[in-house]
Amino acid sequence: MANSGAYSTAAAPVKLNDFERQWAETGTAVLDAVREVGESGWYILGRQVSAFESSLSEFWGLAHAVGVASGLDAIEIGLRVCGCKAGDKVMVPPVSAFATVLAVVRLGAIPVFVDCDAYGLADLELAEKAMEADPAIRYFVPVHLYGHCLDMARMERLKARFGVVIIEDCAQSIGAAHNGIACGTVGDCTATSFYPTKNLGALGDGGALLTGSPEHAAAARCLRDYGQTAKYRHEQLGYNSRLDELHAAIMLRAYLPRLRAWTAARRSIAAEYLEGIRNPLVQPLGIPAGSESCWHLFPVRVDPARKREFMDHLKGHAVGSAEHYPATMLDQPAMSRARFEVFGDCSRARELCASEVSLPIHPYLTAEERARVVDACNSWK
Ligand SMILES: *Cc1c(COP(=O)(O)O)cnc(C)c1O
Repeated sequence: MANSGAYSTAAAPVKLNDFERQWAETGTAVLDAVREVGESGWYILGRQVSAFESSLSEFWGLAHAVGVASGLDAIEIGLRVCGCKAGDKVMVPPVSAFATVLAVVRLGAIPVFVDCDAYGLADLELAEKAMEADPAIRYFVPVHLYGHCLDMARMERLKARFGVVIIEDCAQSIGAAHNGIACGTVGDCTATSFYPTKNLGALGDGGALLTGSPEHAAAARCLRDYGQTAKYRHEQLGYNSRLDELHAAIMLRAYLPRLRAWTAARRSIAAEYLEGIRNPLVQPLGIPAGSESCWHLFPVRVDPARKREFMDHLKGHAVGSAEHYPATMLDQPAMSRARFEVFGDCSRARELCASEVSLPIHPYLTAEERARVVDACNSWK
């Protein structure tokens, strides 16, 4: 390339996610999985879901996995099997996918927002202060945002000291750990999502709840299937929240076997960006100490007043970008319809939302594309 301007007309844009390339690699395995399910004549809660659940729980190192319809449902069902009900207070971070707080609100429980740390993750020191100030906070939904892992030892201490029930939101953090402790292993229940853009995504919606507790797992299996304990015996007012055989088979055959390699690719791209981006106007959010991140996203911060300009600059260099997230959850219009509390203010979260831009970090990025992302960041003035 003669100069950076050469990208703007010639190169195909670097995408945030490249499902075409994923299909080129995995399509044959996916179609084999589809054929197997089709020929089996069994489409709901059968062998594929069971086999996928076993493989996922083995991958994660948690005894039980329960496939459900979405990450949102996994959080809500996780809270419910742990006894959370209308009126209970649930501590949540302010920056996440809206599903995190929606799960709490759908139960009629009361979200208590506690500000994030410099990385956008739950500020555990502040969380401790919030629980000291309000003993009515009995539940906590921490989010391992961007694929970074919260301090698991510290969460364990929080649990021991306050007896708080933890539902970990691991929708962005499959495969991440903190000082060798896997995310999701401290919480009473753990929720993850198979939304297509996630590190382990289905060809549609899906999610799973993971837990070490056989009781919680059994309760979740009951709730996902109309609250049935046996055919046509309904002991709970449950949901229709089942992971499809089709998605389970596809993930089991085509995607889960590639997850470690995909995560390794994301990690090496992150290392390249952290090394290569040398522009004081573009600040990578960095890695929290101890986090062995799985890099679901690669967030950088820019001057909030120039965020649009920066995203346009990237676009001019054929580099896609996105925001995670443009607003905190408590500032979403829908929250005017919900009861919630805020401990302190959420100024750090608001600043983050105002300044954050996500760069492409999917595992199919070529060396040329990664260099283009770095160049585009470094050429911004
Ligand atoms: C995607 C996501 C969810 C919701 O998952 P769905 O499967 O889309 O319902 C929840 N929390 C976080 C942090 C997410 O990224």
